Amino acid sequence: MTTPTTRDDCAQLDAADPLNTLRDEFVLPDGVIYLDGNSLGAPPRAARSRVLVMVDDEWGEGLIRSWNTAGWFDKPTALGDRLAPLIGAGRGEVVVCDSTSINLFKVFNAALRMRPGRKVVVAESAAFPTDLYVMEGAAGLLEGYERRLISPGGPGLDDVLDEDVAVVVLSHVDYRTGLMHDMAAVTAQVHHHGALVVWDLCHSAGALPVRLNDCAADFAVGCTYKYLNGGPGSPAFAFVATRHQNDAHQPLSGWHGHADPFAFITDYKPAPGISRFRSGTPQLLSYAPLEASLDIWERADLAQVRAKSEALTNLFVDLVERECAGLGLSIASPRRVEQRGSQIALRHAGSYPVMQALIDRGVIGDFRAPDLMRFGFTPLYLRFVDVWDAVQVLREVLVSEAWRDDRYTHRSTVT
Ligand SMILES: *Cc1c(COP(=O)(O)O)cnc(C)c1O
Repeated sequence: MTTPTTRDDCAQLDAADPLNTLRDEFVLPDGVIYLDGNSLGAPPRAARSRVLVMVDDEWGEGLIRSWNTAGWFDKPTALGDRLAPLIGAGRGEVVVCDSTSINLFKVFNAALRMRPGRKVVVAESAAFPTDLYVMEGAAGLLEGYERRLISPGGPGLDDVLDEDVAVVVLSHVDYRTGLMHDMAAVTAQVHHHGALVVWDLCHSAGALPVRLNDCAADFAVGCTYKYLNGGPGSPAFAFVATRHQNDAHQPLSGWHGHADPFAFITDYKPAPGISRFRSGTPQLLSYAPLEASLDIWERADLAQVRAKSEALTNLFVDLVERECAGLGLSIASPRRVEQRGSQIALRHAGSYPVMQALIDRGVIGDFRAPDLMRFGFTPLYLRFVDVWDAVQVLREVLVSEAWRDDRYTHRSTVT
């Protein structure tokens, strides 16, 4: 594709976009170009009524009966089966519950126990911090573990893998730069050394087709409030390959993961299959918006989602280079589209205040320390004209130096 030269060219791309009817399924405020769906997706229009049904009918009328009559008890596995095709998993391989951090704790521990005698875990130094913190906490409960860190500039997997490595935890797509691992090749490399791999899919689920089973993946976790539009605090997911399920034991062995939860017996006996990765009572109200979102996902073709995502990120990069040349920006994401997810990070000396000035003008992205502006491109509801308009605003903020205004330097808690 050659870069569109006018806004009209972008409008033509929108008219030809096979996903263009899905935007109407989302609530988006007027005057906002939302480039932060990689942090918190936009609400599906039907989320509100789904929540009301749960509160008014299922809770209000059904009361305790709804555990059976509204399918509350099975929600984590039922939604897991609905989510599975989005990540290349099969039925009975995904459970939707708890948070990504908690699910990582569960699957990481389960993986460690499947490799007794091996005392090394591998992580990425630039991983989303919760992954590192959870691994530290989990390994700290056991004796004598060593952590080896890899990074794009430093040691790579080749340097750290050997027969002492038990588990490798990797982000499929890096939350800052968008750099994407080759899941099939990396999984094969880790397996070659007899280790297991846990994939964090937070920045790839809903952004691109993920093929866990095609890649022979062992475990995966991810959240549903980013590209999957499940809403703030929506439940996360865990994937455990069928071949591992009956050997996998997770330490948050609560009653909902028991083989017979309503037998109320003294000893824990894990449920067969993925259910053993449940812990306690699911946060049911948080499942309602996610159900509305999965209704939309069932209408979306993931190949089309990826094609549009590539086109949107390519357009953004090309327009930034053309319209903002000489204004102090550099592109921190991989240049080759097949090596990145659905986001672009830009570096600028004033990244924090520049982003605040953009947000003030309705172009919402976010800032990631130390120096990145991050822009997410959500193919379900973003238009090509939005990308065009966003780059024009970025140019205006940089040319006018409006970002130097004092009010843009104040740091909020959430950046
Ligand atoms: C967003 C994100 C998380 C979030 O974890 P929570 O437990 O939902 O707070 C974890 N890992 C990665 C890579 C993320 O991008």
